[in-house]
Amino acid sequence: QLAKKTRQASIVFEPRLEQRSANRLELIAQLRKAINENEFCLHFQPKLNLRTNSINQAEALLRWNHPTHGLIGPGGFIELAEQTGMIKEISRIVLTQIYSIIGLCANQNIRLSANLSAMDLEDNGLIEFIKHLHARQPDASRHIVLEITESAAMRDPEQALDILNQLASMNFQIAVDDFGSGYSSLAYLKRFPVTELKIDRALVQGADMDTDGQIILESTIEMGHIMGLLVTTEGVETQAEFDLVKKLGADYVQGFWLSKPMPFEEFKLKHLVGNHDQLVGQL
Ligand code: C2E
Ligand code: MG
Ligand code: MG
Ligand code: MG
Repeated sequence: QLAKKTRQASIVFEPRLEQRSANRLELIAQLRKAINENEFCLHFQPKLNLRTNSINQAEALLRWNHPTHGLIGPGGFIELAEQTGMIKEISRIVLTQIYSIIGLCANQNIRLSANLSAMDLEDNGLIEFIKHLHARQPDASRHIVLEITESAAMRDPEQALDILNQLASMNFQIAVDDFGSGYSSLAYLKRFPVTELKIDRALVQGADMDTDGQIILESTIEMGHIMGLLVTTEGVETQAEFDLVKKLGADYVQGFWLSKPMPFEEFKLKHLVGNHDQLVGQL
């Protein structure tokens, strides 16, 4: 009976696996083409500063403008890009775009964050590329936050520490992303030149309706502050979640409650052109 089931299962699954690997190869080829023909764009999700009730920051989130499937989020291709090493080229594209936007916003009080992958911290390729951008636009780094995940930093902490120290000495701010969602080492966090802690939405969502969740969120925010970090809470979707993170003392809020990611032009029109009073009125 069991053997029969197993055999049946393999008959059912084999064609799917075949198809999956064919799709994978096709996707790799399409991703290569996307890099060559620059089919990527960035959307920007605003961050509200709870100290000043204003918005002058946003996180750059990568989108692939696929010729037939339309706009694809990073969930659909970042992992493959990491597995194939193509993420290194994609990170260069992202940083080049950020630099050019910052260049166009000269003298504006604006700060943009970009996400880096684990692989970006594993060799000196990216840091060399950034040094090259930095040499041409030395003022831009003050306007840029680089977001790394704990796991990205933990794979080779010594190497990551070296690269992060170099970035910090060029005046980039470093944020730890998705904090609380995976493995973490507080000891390393303390050694890294980090200035911001972004608490993962898993710790935020529903915390208003759950006593334990609230205690965990509160102590995470407190721990960030004790370590001298600015604390951002991610994934705030409801008014109740917003009220809670505000009460618990978060410095920044990000999430659909405030805004979804949008093209830079839209972000600029909505938030950078002296439109703050309207927002403050809403709170
Ligand atoms: P992340 O850096 O933690 O970015 C936040 C993600 O949560 C974004 O998804 C954002 O759209 C989504 N989000 C924001 N607010 C809410 C909310 O209130 N509710 C919910 N359910 N989701 C919310 P997105 O754009 O799909 O990006 C997913 C992840 O992909 C990012 O997580 C980041 O780790 C990675 N990523 C994005 N852009 C890049 C990039 O340029 N390079 C690299 N290496 N990774 C990137
Ligand atoms: Mg991020
Ligand atoms: Mg995050
Ligand atoms: Mg993430």
